[in-house]
Amino acid sequence: MGFFDWIKTSNENLKRVESRIYEHKKDYLEVYQRNQALEREIAQRTEELHKANQTLLTLEHVWDMMNSSRPLSNVLETIVSSLHGEFGYLYSCIVQKQLDKDGVFYSLRTYLKNEFSQRLEKFLGKSIFDVKLKIKKNGKIQEAIENKTAVHYTDLFEILTEVFPELSDEQAHEIAKKTFTKSVIILPLIASKEFTGFLAVFSPREEAKDDELNFLNLFARQIELAITIANLFETVKKQAVTDPLTELFNRRFFDDAIEREANRALRLNQPFTLIGLDLDHLKEINDTYGHSMGDRAISTIARVILRNARSVDIASRIGGEEFSIILPGIDAQGGLAAAERLRVSIENEPVEGLGNVTASIGVATFIEHTLDLDDLIEMSDKAMYDAKEQGRNRVCLAQPQKNISWQDVAVNAFVEILEKHRIPFNNKLALELSHKLQTRQENVKGNSAQELLYSVVDTISQTYTTSNQEGITKSKMSLATLVAKKFKLSKSEIDKLKIAILLYDIGNTMLPDEILKKPAPLTKEEKDKIVEHPLLAAREILKPITNISDIIPIIEHHHENWDGSGYPNQVKGEKIPITSQIILIVDSYFAMISDRPYRRAYTQEEAIEEIKRQAGKKYSEELTNEFILALDEFYNIK
Ligand code: GH3
Ligand code: MG
Repeated sequence: MGFFDWIKTSNENLKRVESRIYEHKKDYLEVYQRNQALEREIAQRTEELHKANQTLLTLEHVWDMMNSSRPLSNVLETIVSSLHGEFGYLYSCIVQKQLDKDGVFYSLRTYLKNEFSQRLEKFLGKSIFDVKLKIKKNGKIQEAIENKTAVHYTDLFEILTEVFPELSDEQAHEIAKKTFTKSVIILPLIASKEFTGFLAVFSPREEAKDDELNFLNLFARQIELAITIANLFETVKKQAVTDPLTELFNRRFFDDAIEREANRALRLNQPFTLIGLDLDHLKEINDTYGHSMGDRAISTIARVILRNARSVDIASRIGGEEFSIILPGIDAQGGLAAAERLRVSIENEPVEGLGNVTASIGVATFIEHTLDLDDLIEMSDKAMYDAKEQGRNRVCLAQPQKNISWQDVAVNAFVEILEKHRIPFNNKLALELSHKLQTRQENVKGNSAQELLYSVVDTISQTYTTSNQEGITKSKMSLATLVAKKFKLSKSEIDKLKIAILLYDIGNTMLPDEILKKPAPLTKEEKDKIVEHPLLAAREILKPITNISDIIPIIEHHHENWDGSGYPNQVKGEKIPITSQIILIVDSYFAMISDRPYRRAYTQEEAIEEIKRQAGKKYSEELTNEFILALDEFYNIK
């Protein structure tokens, strides 16, 4: 091959190589370009995935919130603030439809402070929560509500003037100009099948893409769900605690509420008053006009109760025709005044088709009357029954002393008697006894307190008799109780009897010593003094002593005889309280078996014979028989 041939071949080879290189380069470029496109796509897909993920996370978060037991406003706040990172939104808020006497208006339910709201507040001169928003007729929002679709505002001036009619054009322009917000998206909210308001989202962009609007729509549905669930929950809760006829709270709610109130009262050392109320003569209304008229009377009264109640008061229907009202922070005097106002209101509110009805009311106050919740309820009940007993259509205050033990009543009576010097003791003895009794009140409980009480009474007795009185009060008390039980007296009757036994000799201490200790038989004049004086004296001494008003009649009658030959009023037979008859027979027996200045003591048998001789005269036959049986038990126990 010649030189030129070699060059030619080489050239051809070179061209081939060149063209091959070129071919490869083309391939390479293609691959490179394809790779780049792929990378771009991956980046885009990743971003989409990321967005979807974030959306999902947001919705998931919203869902969790809805299922929590937090109050709705909390849930909505969290939902709304979870929206802020999405699509770079600046802020958002929920506006709620509301109703008052002037009709429908709108107010903010949730929002976060922002430049928009701050300027608004400045111009409107009040908190944005207090602003009543309007929806302009035929405006874009109105249209969105009707079509149940989202609306996208790019004209901020327009939206501002649509919802804030108080804003001047100038102010609206200024707010619209000075904000980062470029558009607002409004999404109507429909919960429990009703239009309840809208979600407003503030965006930094003028445009809103389809996927953005789709996402916001999804978001709005979540809010609707949260509101629907909360509404349902409220309804169920309300049904569980209210009475359907009157819409007052029911018994279950009352029971919980009063316990909460008692705890609070103790913690803050503040009283609360319980008002118990019962319709008068409802049975008659039912019988005469039918049950539905009775129901109408009940709901009329409930309405009056609600109208009279403060917002913190808890009014409940706790039984068919029974109502209870808890008045937090109100003492007995305030409670009494409130109850009286309520009574008058009820009296003046005619029941349609029936006319006026009345109610009886009992009032008891926690802390002031008792620290025990069961006691409080019982006291207000009891006071209500007192009101019924005293003629209905009235208010009665609780009588807390009814719950004090008979020992306490007796001790208090003695302390009062001694301290007010109502017994002509020498001061030293009075002071000593009073001190003994008061110390007892603070330190001693139960049986030993009782013993002390007896010993005090024995001491008092010894100041006016010469006989040895040691232990005699205790014996009288046991024997009288045994007799009372034979007559099936109630515990409260027996308690009264015990107090009467402790107190009935009080009048004697007012008698001049020379009569009391005189060994010779008494003159007629002296006898008269004894007959009249002790009972009068006892009444005078006891009358001002608190809490023993129902003891006085027992004492006043304890010298009356069955046949009417006793004193002071010659009352006879069943007219004499049985408790007084028991005191008479027990007292006579113990008088007979003890020494007196003018005679020796009877034996037990002689005393029994004497009592039998008086059967049908001084004592009833029945009392005599029961007494002798009780006496038998008394000595057997001893
Ligand atoms: P008082 O003045 O002593 O309270 O007389 P009263 O007739 O209202 O009281 P009583 O306790 O004797 O009877 C209560 C009546 O209330 C008996 C019952 O038929 C009636 N009642 C209870 N609950 C309802 C109710 O829900 N609707 C109606 N219509 N009557 C009821
Ligand atoms: Mg009634």
